[in-house]
Formats: sequence, structure tokens, C-alpha cells
Amino acid sequence: MLLRRFERERKARKQAEGLLEKKSLELFNANKELRELANDQERLIEQRTGQLVKARDEAIQANRHKSDFLSRMSHELRTPMNAILGFSQLLESDPAHPLSEDQHENLSEIMKAGRHLLELINEVLDLSKIEAGKLELMPEEVSPTELMEECLLLIKPMAEQKDIRLINHLEKMPACLLYADRMRLKQVLLNLLSNAVKYNHDLGSVEIEPPEVVEKHLRICIRDTGPGIAADALPRLFEPFSRVSNDSGIEGTGIGLTISKLLMEMMGGHIGVESKPGKGSRFWIDVSCGDAATNTAESKKPAEESPQRIDAGVSTEKAFTLLYVEDNPANLKLVKLLMKRRGDNRLLEAENAELGLEMALARRPDIILMDLQLPGMSGIEALQKLRATAEIASIPTIALSANAMPADIQRGLDAGFDAYLTKPIKVVELMDTLDGVLANPRVQ
Ligand code: ADP
Repeated sequence: MLLRRFERERKARKQAEGLLEKKSLELFNANKELRELANDQERLIEQRTGQLVKARDEAIQANRHKSDFLSRMSHELRTPMNAILGFSQLLESDPAHPLSEDQHENLSEIMKAGRHLLELINEVLDLSKIEAGKLELMPEEVSPTELMEECLLLIKPMAEQKDIRLINHLEKMPACLLYADRMRLKQVLLNLLSNAVKYNHDLGSVEIEPPEVVEKHLRICIRDTGPGIAADALPRLFEPFSRVSNDSGIEGTGIGLTISKLLMEMMGGHIGVESKPGKGSRFWIDVSCGDAATNTAESKKPAEESPQRIDAGVSTEKAFTLLYVEDNPANLKLVKLLMKRRGDNRLLEAENAELGLEMALARRPDIILMDLQLPGMSGIEALQKLRATAEIASIPTIALSANAMPADIQRGLDAGFDAYLTKPIKVVELMDTLDGVLANPRVQ
């Protein structure tokens, strides 16, 4: 009896052991499969991540190529624009052949479209440079009051045309200095101020609210009494080419705010907007700032120190000689006509820098006007040679170039040009610069 029980139990134990072994084998196999699956997954994820990184790098590269292309295109477009706007200005005010009223109107349309196209080219150029990571900022200490005063002065004529009141509270400006690229910050402020005037009603107002410092940033708010912007349009405002208000008839490109946002971000600041249809808009920027008490820049007067003082309206008694170094026939012709009309000068022409230097030595002109992108020796190299040649080292030399980015201008001035003008030629600016250089000749 006992034996039988023992035998039954042994059998049952054996069965249980067999079952356990079978289950553990199943478990082992399942585990193995799971591990292989996990490994496969890991390999798949790695492979996919590699593909995504490659696709992202390719997209970044493609975007750079696109921006490079746009940047070069825009530069090429500026040259013919120079001829279009330059010759239009010449036609507009030709005392020998005055235009009829109709012709005048048609010409204004050409010039208006030309200026619009130029603005578009400049903004696309800016945007593509930022996107290609090629925009260099030159941060410095900036007095907010001085900067705002300059901007208001520039905006005033535009506001007066629409009888718009400009209100500011600059007397309440906190004692601080901004840390930003002066020229670029001015570009952002001018964009916001000109929008506040452009998209406003006649007899409206634009108010710069009392600026305040919040978390080491100066907040400058610009409020207008325009038609405002619908809530669903606000998110699109900073995207390129989005014109959201009822803009018919108002000139614009739809890129200004996109550039402003990118510039503010590059300078470590922010830009924002609040608006209600019918109640106007309020755009603000936050600019990094520090305590003015620890700085002396506030007390400096940059205008008095500027090496480029332009003394408009000064005219010369005797004829002066201008040497123009330029390879583009249309530009040459334009300056020739402008100088002929001006009348108090002799113009010498050289189509490349090598010839220009020879002519400078032989003829000793009073001023040299130098294109920068020349076949062979560049304008900058020519200036270096000029400054290193004692007989002609002190001839005032003005750069005239289609490279219009602030960094290009700074490079030109750093190289030693007495002034840097950008194409398309602005007749008044060219004449004022010549007057300024003639009135303040270089000291030998
Ligand atoms: P632009 O003025 O050249 O068209 P912006 O990028 O500066 O380009 O502005 C984009 C759009 O945002 C404008 O076309 C306009 O529709 C809208 N906008 C900008 N500022 C204002 C404003 N102060 N009031 C109403 N709409 C505005």
C-alpha cells in the first residue's frame, strides 16, 4: 500500500518536473525571441536615426545653397536696378528737357515700382543671409534715447503725410545702455514704426509707451491706432511674405517682420505683438540692456566723432577732378551725366583698378570714386596700394558698391575708404558726399 502510494507520488513528481522543464524551455525560447526582437528594434532605430540625421543635414545644406543662390541673385539684381533708378532720377530733373505732366506721372510710376523692387531685393538679400548663417552682427553699447530720437526723426516725414501724431515718452527712459548691433536694432525699430504709420488711419497716432526694464531687457512698445489685426492672422505675422491686414494699396513686401524677428533673436532679444481689430496694434521688442551708470558711452557724442561727416550743401569754388574707377558702362554713363550736370568738375574714367592707379599717379585727382568689384585687382586692394604710394596716399577715396550689407560697409570703412556709398546711386547722397569730402580734405 505504502509502496503503491510512493510509486504514484514519484510518477506525479516526474510529470510535474517534465511539465516544468517544458515550460522553462518555452520561456527560454520566448525570452530569446524577445531579445532578438529588441536587438532588431535597436538596429532599426539606429538605422532610422542615421537616415533622419542624413536627411536633416541634406536639408540644411540645401537650405544653405538656396540662401546662397538667393543672396547672389539679389546682388546681381541690384546692378540693373542701379541703372533703372539712376537714369529715372536723371530724366525726372533734367532742366534741358523738362517732362510733360503725363511723362512725369509715368516716370513716377517707374520709380515707385523700382524702389519697391529694390526694397524687395534688399529684404530677400537680408533674409537669405540670415538663413545661410552669413549675417555678422556687431554688438556694441547703444544709447536707447539717441537711437529712438534718430528713428523718430526718420519717421516724422512719413507720419506728417498722413497727419499722424507721434507721441513719445523718451524723458521717462530708464538709465540704461542697450547691448545690440546698432544698425540692425535701428532696422527693427524703423520697421515697427513705419508699419505703425503705414497701417494707420489719417489723423491717427503712434505712441512709444514709456520704456521699462524687465529682467535685464529694455521693453520698447509701439502702439498705433490703425485697424488692428485679426486673432487668427497673428501667428502668421512673422512668416515671410504674409501680408495679413487689408493691405490693398499699401506698399510692402511682407518680409520686414520676419527679418525683425530673426534679428531680435540673434541679438538675444524678443519681439511680440498684441492686437484687436478696430482697436489698433501694439508691437514690442525686448532688448538686452545694462546699467548706464557703469558705462561712459552715454556721455559720448558719436555724431561728433564720426569719421564720415557729410557737409551737405557746401559747394566748391573751382573745378575739381574726380577719377571714377568702374567697369560697368551703365554706371559710368550715369555718373558722367550726373557730374556733367553738376558742372564744377572734370571727370576721369578708368575701367579697372590697375589703370585707375596709373591715372591717379599721372593726373592726381582731387577725389577718387571706386567700384569695389572690378575685373583683376579689387577696389579694396587698389585702395591699399594707393595708401601705400606716398604721392597719392592722401587722395580722398569713396567706395561705391552694390555690396550693401552693414558688414560690407564696415569692412570698406575699416579698409580706409573716406565714405562708402551703395548702389543704386542716390544722386543727393553722392553729391552731398562729394561736397563733404571737398570741404574736409584729408590731412597729408
Ligand atoms: P510689409 O509691411 O512690408 O508688408 P511686414 O513684415 O513689416 O511687411 O508686415 C507684415 C504684415 O503684417 C503687413 O503686410 C501687414 O499686413 C501686417 N502689419 C504689420 N504691422 C502692422 C500694424 N501695425 N497694423 C496692422 N497690420 C500690420
